[in-house]
Amino acid sequence: MLEISEPEGPQDTGHALYVVATPIGHLSDLSERARHLLLQVKWVAAEDTRVTKVLLQSIGASARTLTVHQHNEREAAQSIVDKLRAGDSVALVSDAGTPAISDPGALVVEAVREAGFRVVPLPGPNAITTLLSASGLPANGFLFDGFLPVKTSAREERLRHLLAAQQTLNCNVVVYEAPHRIAELAAVLDARLAGDQRVVIGRELTKRFEQIVDLQAGQVATWIASDPNHLRGEFVVAWGPAAPEAAVDVERVDRAAMKAIPVGELLDALLAHLPASRAAKLAHQLTGLPRDLIYRELNNSKSGPDSDGQ
Ligand code: SAM
Repeated sequence: MLEISEPEGPQDTGHALYVVATPIGHLSDLSERARHLLLQVKWVAAEDTRVTKVLLQSIGASARTLTVHQHNEREAAQSIVDKLRAGDSVALVSDAGTPAISDPGALVVEAVREAGFRVVPLPGPNAITTLLSASGLPANGFLFDGFLPVKTSAREERLRHLLAAQQTLNCNVVVYEAPHRIAELAAVLDARLAGDQRVVIGRELTKRFEQIVDLQAGQVATWIASDPNHLRGEFVVAWGPAAPEAAVDVERVDRAAMKAIPVGELLDALLAHLPASRAAKLAHQLTGLPRDLIYRELNNSKSGPDSDGQ
């Protein structure tokens, strides 16, 4: 049941740590509650104080700032606890969006709660939910994994686990990606997803050049390459699960993999249901074995690579 409390209700008074979501682009997305709170608190703990001062100035807030970033979070947490002990109230913000979501904040919250003080969340903008809400992807849950690892081997490993979990759970996957790596992510999705799997890219959400594109996995690399602007700005990428037919096959193969069946047998099982290229892609995804080895096995398999285009 919806319960609406007074806009300036009692929960936002007294010394506590207020975890405040701030806009991811559009200044007007700062909630009225957040604005009011930022005008009241003595301290604002911010990731980059230069960024936060712009926001504070825009609303006429004169709170003092202190820095909390990934390299000083423990010491900053202690300093915040000291301020709370002195009777001050502190707001925690990040550069954009919701603190502690791929941003500093979790250690501060833990320390404050351990010290016995209240932690009060002020919800608001977040890039993941902003994209998902406008993605049109089926609302059957999602796995969010922050930024994928930069190193190729670590990223491959992470993706393998993510894709296997996605198929098991039949859900969406959402990741953040930096502009200088978006082309690489596009190539990876092209290689690792089924060609017709839905990929929704959110670029510059809530900003002037906002773009939300709904593509098939096989089109992502082409879309990225089609305009230099498609490599600029901030990105969130979501993709839906593979078609049920492939998901069923993955379940079969997962069970087979648990029995440690040889890759040749795995390929034969897949080739009974899928074209050779899909079978090879799935075998690579499930086993993590190098592609050239999979293709060698494919050439040796009973059904052979000629089964493509069944
Ligand atoms: N805590 C933030 C949140 O709640 O969304 C995310 C912080 S994370 C360090 C920053 C990443 O979020 C960016 O690199 C980008 O992937 C994504 N992001 C933030 N703002 C965005 C926007 N306006 N449009 C698309 N992606 C955005």
